[in-house]
Amino acid sequence: PLALLVDAGLLKTQSLIDGHWVDAPGRFAVRDPATGRELAQVANLGAAGAEAAVQAAHRAGPAWRDTTAKQRHAILLRWYQLLTEHREDLARLITAEQGKPLAEARGEVTYGASFVEWFAEQAKRVNGEVLPSFDNARRLMVLRQPIGVCAAITPWNFPLAMITRKVAPALAAGCTVVLKPAEQTPLTALAVAELARRAGVPDGVLNLVTADGAGSIDVGKHFCASELVRHISFTGSTEVGRLLMAQSAPTIKKLALELGGNAPFIVFDDADLDAAVEGAIASKFRNAGQTCVCANRLYVQDGVYDRFLEKFAARVAALKVGNGFEPDSVQGPLIDPAALDKVEKHVDDALALGARLLTGGRRLHGQFYAPTVLADATAHMLCAREETFGPLAPVFRFHTEQEAIDLANGTEFGLAAYFYSTGLGRCFRVAEALQCGMVGVNAGIIATEHVPFGGVKQSGLGREGSALGIEEYVEVKYVCMSGI
Ligand code: ADP
Repeated sequence: PLALLVDAGLLKTQSLIDGHWVDAPGRFAVRDPATGRELAQVANLGAAGAEAAVQAAHRAGPAWRDTTAKQRHAILLRWYQLLTEHREDLARLITAEQGKPLAEARGEVTYGASFVEWFAEQAKRVNGEVLPSFDNARRLMVLRQPIGVCAAITPWNFPLAMITRKVAPALAAGCTVVLKPAEQTPLTALAVAELARRAGVPDGVLNLVTADGAGSIDVGKHFCASELVRHISFTGSTEVGRLLMAQSAPTIKKLALELGGNAPFIVFDDADLDAAVEGAIASKFRNAGQTCVCANRLYVQDGVYDRFLEKFAARVAALKVGNGFEPDSVQGPLIDPAALDKVEKHVDDALALGARLLTGGRRLHGQFYAPTVLADATAHMLCAREETFGPLAPVFRFHTEQEAIDLANGTEFGLAAYFYSTGLGRCFRVAEALQCGMVGVNAGIIATEHVPFGGVKQSGLGREGSALGIEEYVEVKYVCMSGI
């Protein structure tokens, strides 16, 4: 699929350090999850590569920090334009190495580019403050300055957008970046970095270190241990987030963590059922269920339980599974065999504990799994407690509003939650009661660049996107000026 790139110069297989494409003695294979075929061999850097990248980012720091906000705005805007112009090639790279249908990949490029556009604008709005003074001979000010070298570690499920959501605000604030993309999806990351270079991001301001699974652990350790790295932004599993937090303790780094979720999706008796079914399909099956905000548990109230299941299972059974490059595919493969094993384990466990299979429940060829609906799920099943991260929709029955809230909140996670109701009072009550960072009320897809994305509890720290997204990359300095 990569032979068809319009701009072959976007296909890079080396790391980017200090403006140079650099190789390593070892390489690792990137595979198409739809076919298992090898797409490319990418440079496998380790701790030494990470250190070279950190040093480059450190050296580039002062000159980048001293550019004007308007200069950074102009470079970021150019980067946004290049991402948009190369949308088709970027989408092909995403589908090839990640597997999502091409239409979704195009959507990801648009979504990912929108963060660059947004933070290009926000670069001009990192304002300081002048505070009322307690003494006429003094002036009190607050400066907001770039934090310094920032490390970003990103996952494979959104190979482009998870990068721009971190890198764009960091660059806008005047920080330099070392980025370690997921080992499954480095090709998209490298193309994004190449476009940043073409847009005029100076050497050393954005460095990209590629590494395989084992190398990623070393690179992560190195970023955490470095005194030059002042901030780590990570999107991925809660388990790795915890590890990065522990590893960052000795150097007291600022952390932004966007971790796992276990999103509840609640359908009340007074919901618009057709809208709820469509919302559930969009929320659950986007990217084959491999997003951290995917509905993981569907709670449906007594009065509409059977009707919802009937409509929902019929829609799910009709979803077309296939290679993301086939025009009518709406669900691609899962990322790797371990992802299939997890879905299978959750389905087997639920069936053994009394769930009813309405559709799916089986592997198809290769890394494809049939979109699945289970009815009569209960709280002690694995699928209630863990994020499946695959195309399994377990449906639970509930009776009262309070019961739904308690079930929804009964998890250590708190990223996204969704519910459908037409009752105004209920919409306010439930939105306020849910323990999570984001709520979709009568909406299954809610993310966009100018809203705060992030979680509470063990789903993470900090917010990305919105006006808050750039705050991560800024330190506040109080200046008390006396003798005036
Ligand atoms: P997922 O389950 O989505 O693959 P991970 O948390 O394993 O989530 O991976 C997200 C990112 O974290 C990837 O870039 C991966 O290489 C990286 N990663 C995994 N383990 C570690 C680690 N021990 N230290 C640093 N980064 C890691």
